[in-house]
Amino acid sequence: MRKLASIRRIGEVRAIEGADAIEAVQIDGWQCVAKKGEFKAGDLCCYFEIDSFLPTTNPAFEFMAVRGATKDAEGKAGYRLRTVKLRGTLSQGLALPLTALFAGPEWLNEGDDVTEHLGVTKWEPAMPACLGGEAKSTFPGWIRKTDQELIENVPFILLLDLEYEVTIKLDGSSMTAYHRDGEFGVCSRNLDLRETEGNTFWKVARRHGLPEKLAEFGNIAIQGELIGPGIQGNQEKLAGHAMYVFDVWMIDEQRYATQAERLDIVSRLSLNHAPILHYKVVAPATVADALALADGPSLNAAVKREGLVFKSLCGSQSWKVISNKWLLKHE
Ligand code: AMP
Ligand code: MN
Repeated sequence: MRKLASIRRIGEVRAIEGADAIEAVQIDGWQCVAKKGEFKAGDLCCYFEIDSFLPTTNPAFEFMAVRGATKDAEGKAGYRLRTVKLRGTLSQGLALPLTALFAGPEWLNEGDDVTEHLGVTKWEPAMPACLGGEAKSTFPGWIRKTDQELIENVPFILLLDLEYEVTIKLDGSSMTAYHRDGEFGVCSRNLDLRETEGNTFWKVARRHGLPEKLAEFGNIAIQGELIGPGIQGNQEKLAGHAMYVFDVWMIDEQRYATQAERLDIVSRLSLNHAPILHYKVVAPATVADALALADGPSLNAAVKREGLVFKSLCGSQSWKVISNKWLLKHE
């Protein structure tokens, strides 16, 4: 699980022009707005990343109530941390003093993960009805779940001299179809789904003939993003549902297929691949460079993209960078 809430050190503290009550603090690759005078450079803080969902049941988060609580996919009430602009300054996530959260702050060290302790979860919107379904089981343990770390959290990866494949990040719902020892299955991000008539994941799998065709490739899982009407506002404005593949997982070998293997499998299955911006490119030099690349057109050239996913060709690293323009418009 991602470290959504962790103990981190405040970097630079910057004044915001025309603001008396707030200032900007830097935490690793993130800038966020805090109460003026609350932090000085070098202080430890508890930093909550964007996508954090803070439970209403923890009184420490009560000050967020004025901004309004929402409910997540499981119906749990909480406060969602967004990307906002305050007095023209970008603010992402939330930094709080340790004393506001912990009785014994002196026990905490830089880097400690306090996500579970504080009851923080990753914000997941409720699944639209067409995607919901009966679970056969939880997500299979022998397939890697789809997830990507944000580059702001792992900026040191840019120092590695790696070459990357760069794809456009599509904002839909994660879908996995697998064949293993004669059994075919379709999974959402967290569940192995029972086959039903109406479930859109299954409909798309059947339309591509995956239940029959996948077995030809042995024990294999195809992973992609399902997009279309009713899913995340259908940003690409598609008329129907479609899966865009971004990974192929070799189950027996417990590894991802290489780029060449994946492109071959995707074309033999007549599937769509997530739009590839670069097949092979060197890493951006800095987080700021990566953020600049994140802005741009999406699959549908008329709309802004959510961001990019960088996957090293050697297979050792993969990370995402989300467009701040997109975040300010969509969050
Ligand atoms: P997030 O949507 O912020 O949780 O980021 C991770 C998710 O992005 C993955 O679980 C995938 O479902 C999704 N995704 C969309 N497009 C891509 C892509 N081109 N490469 C990898 N993951 C992607
Ligand atoms: Mn997503």
